[in-house]
Amino acid sequence: MDLTAYIRDVPDFPKPGILFKDIMPLLGTPAAFALAIERLAGHYPADRIDVLAAAEARGFLFAAPMALALKKPLVPLRKPGKLPGATHSFRYDLEYGSAELHVHTDAISPGARVLIVDDVLATGGTMAAACKLVEQAGGVVAGCAFLIELSFLNGRAPLTGYEVFSLISY
Ligand code: 5GP
Repeated sequence: MDLTAYIRDVPDFPKPGILFKDIMPLLGTPAAFALAIERLAGHYPADRIDVLAAAEARGFLFAAPMALALKKPLVPLRKPGKLPGATHSFRYDLEYGSAELHVHTDAISPGARVLIVDDVLATGGTMAAACKLVEQAGGVVAGCAFLIELSFLNGRAPLTGYEVFSLISY
């Protein structure tokens, strides 16, 4: 099955000049979604991963079923004000302004090998911030997994030193 058939191009979203890759057709097709999860999870031997983590929000859609497939705990990296307990946080720059991710201080054991998941690798800023936060929380980044990589944006550059895997590359 060709998974690219379930990714829809949306011109000029969220602003003019951006060609947005919309994953909704994939989520709306159980056979395609299941295959994507099987292929993503299948890339990682279960004995090399201790925990899965994902940044809010679309990363959750892939990390949760992957965590079940690999039988590993899931740690959500959340926007400010969402987690009830004490947190570590990491602030990072966006094209306009900045964003912040939080994780509970007790979510990741020291030295735990963490696989971080997101739907799309664009400039790499979000995943680089997720890696820093996981390390601040005591984890070791075991890999960065994406459904889609927009390779023309060179998002692997800020992830130098980390293992990066994507199912679909444009
Ligand atoms: P980056 O930080 O790598 O520039 O952007 C990646 C983040 O923005 C991901 O969390 C992803 O959800 C979102 N993103 C950027 N471009 C796209 C896109 O074309 N399609 C989708 N679905 N998400 C995108």
